[in-house]
Amino acid sequence: MTALRHVGPARATALAQLGVTSIFDLLTFYPRRYLDRTRRADVASLAVGEEAAVVGIVRAVRARRTSHGRSLVEVDAAAGEESLRVVFFNQAWRERQLVAGTHVLLYGRLEDYRGRRQMTNPVVDVIVGVDGEVRDPSRVGRVVALYPSSERSRLTSWEIGGYVDEALRRSGSLSDPVPRALRDSLGLVDRTAAFWAMHRPAALDDVEPARRRLAFDEFVRLQLALAQRRRRMVAVASGVVHPVDPTDIEVAPGAPGGSLLRRFLAGHRFALTGAQRRVLAEVLADLARPTPMQRLLQGDVGSGKTMVALSALLVAVDGGRQGALLAPTEVLAEQHAASLRADVADLRVPDSRVLGGERALSIAVLAGSLGVRARAGVLTGLADGSVDIVVGTHALLQEDVRFAALGVVVIDEQHRFGVQQRAALVARGRERSAEGRDPDVLVMTATPIPRTAAMVTFGDLDRSVIDEMPAGRQPVLTRWLGARDQTECWERVRAEVARGRRAFVVCPLVEGSDRVIAASAVSERDRLAHTELAGLRVGLLHGQMKPGEKELVMDQFREGALDVLVATVVIEVGVDVPEASVIVIEDAWRFGLAQLHQLRGRVGRAGDRGYCFLLGDAPSDESRARLEALVGSHDGFALAEIDLDLRGEGTLLGSRQRGRSDLRVASLRDDEDLLVAARDAAASLVEDADVSDELVGELRLLAEPAEVGFLFQG
Ligand code: ADP
Ligand code: MG
Repeated sequence: MTALRHVGPARATALAQLGVTSIFDLLTFYPRRYLDRTRRADVASLAVGEEAAVVGIVRAVRARRTSHGRSLVEVDAAAGEESLRVVFFNQAWRERQLVAGTHVLLYGRLEDYRGRRQMTNPVVDVIVGVDGEVRDPSRVGRVVALYPSSERSRLTSWEIGGYVDEALRRSGSLSDPVPRALRDSLGLVDRTAAFWAMHRPAALDDVEPARRRLAFDEFVRLQLALAQRRRRMVAVASGVVHPVDPTDIEVAPGAPGGSLLRRFLAGHRFALTGAQRRVLAEVLADLARPTPMQRLLQGDVGSGKTMVALSALLVAVDGGRQGALLAPTEVLAEQHAASLRADVADLRVPDSRVLGGERALSIAVLAGSLGVRARAGVLTGLADGSVDIVVGTHALLQEDVRFAALGVVVIDEQHRFGVQQRAALVARGRERSAEGRDPDVLVMTATPIPRTAAMVTFGDLDRSVIDEMPAGRQPVLTRWLGARDQTECWERVRAEVARGRRAFVVCPLVEGSDRVIAASAVSERDRLAHTELAGLRVGLLHGQMKPGEKELVMDQFREGALDVLVATVVIEVGVDVPEASVIVIEDAWRFGLAQLHQLRGRVGRAGDRGYCFLLGDAPSDESRARLEALVGSHDGFALAEIDLDLRGEGTLLGSRQRGRSDLRVASLRDDEDLLVAARDAAASLVEDADVSDELVGELRLLAEPAEVGFLFQG
């Protein structure tokens, strides 16, 4: 940075603290806001609180110290017919600058000070000095960029602006990697003009076109990095061509024989929905190809993703390979295994090592709590191929896990796993599989992600969406009772239990250690069991319980030995108990919208009416809006869009450091058209070998894979 004229080592260090270590960083260090000094106003016409530029003549100036020892300069100015008091704190030099008779342009917010109009620390341009000399007319009345400066870096916005000016002047006309035709079709200004207008707009209206152009560049860099990541993966991949018969999907119920998949679908208690069929066809097509599948399966809560996942796992087994299902929690892993076992109970697979040449399909669980002996048994089965499908938690990622031939990996609830873990899993799948091939990967998520966000966070995955619910599913009746009378809620719980249904009660999210959270769940269970729910069989589930205890409670609840399950959010993802028809969420405002939607998805799955009660008052407009949105809509994708609006996109992408591939001016909400165009542009860039080296080189420079990596760290 010391190449700039006024930047020495100290300033360079200060700039580095702002993340600026190159001219490119400086050019993309965008203003936080602008002062529109072209908007001159008459003091008389301004209301207190308004920001404007006012022309005035200094009448008198006084300097003194406040009682706290700060320097204070007070100026009396005449602004047209009005008089204006201007005060400056800690700017003692203003006394020398603003001598009586000076004509100034003052930019600031109009205040009322004991009945007088006043500005505090306004931006000042001297128009005509006392000597009658006209000062720097180019600076007067312009739109001025204000940069985010910080105490720590000790750089003022004006200093930064000066460096930016120099960088703009000295870099001259920048080459533009986006071809003119594409720019024109998207209505984008060229890059040099965009940088100028962003930093030195002639008018405020020039800023937005510049921002759009620079936003497009941000999206292109990001998408290009994702497209390259994908291309690299494909280039080095050594995938499996699974045996697939696409007509299996259309098999008639009860039809005999054929592949495992065919027998599974023909024997299943219900037919696939149209959306499940379409998505499964996409998955099967991937499985039949030699390049490993990298697919995201999105579907709202209850849309039936599990059947698609199981189908993919069965295709692996059909080819004599193994399938692995990675779940975020042990409770879920157990549940998945239990329901998979039930679903495939009568499926048999060939095995030359056993008497009769065939055996039952074998499904094992690998979780952290497994005893040493049991774990060793599962590991042996995975290594010798006698386990066909393994369902596990992070324990599946441990060093000593080896497979005979891992064919398909399904990752449930991707948001719990980072992109890096996903990549590591695939790499290990190859290393650890005796066959030495890359498994196909299906990532499932029930957390609806707005389209734009999915393009950014899962841009390296193909995408399938189950956009249809199984027939007969009724929307869950959702009521927000606030802190009012909650009789309705507990009466409903009793009524549902009376007709053989079950209820969840979700404990408030309390702050504190796992122990504190568990304690609050225990006391809430005890309270309910003695008051509102006296006489019912009320169970408890929280994170501090031993895995065996959790399993026992879940089993009891599933079988109906418990009527009500009081639980911390461990039930959030995926727990499937068809008889559960009511969910009560205490202090509902503490939960995020996506989480509430997930929780609500736990009930109303068996084709009859489900009920969701939200308790507790909302302390803010935002939390109220969240709860009202949940009451008003049952569509996870619509809710995700609302969530994006309510919370802003910062939270959506998570907190992260500034990097060159960060989105600074691009907005996932407002720039969807640009994002789509950027993705297409990036795709054609990596596909098209004829593309200019300059373009590829530059974009590669800006999109270092390492940075893209940390951008997405979980
Ligand atoms: P999710 O997408 O939330 O993981 P699941 O796969 O758990 O959804 O399915 C939700 C419920 O719907 C389960 O009880 C499942 O048995 C049932 N289900 C799945 N597919 C169908 C279908 N095609 N017809 C009827 N019910 C289905
Ligand atoms: Mg699920």
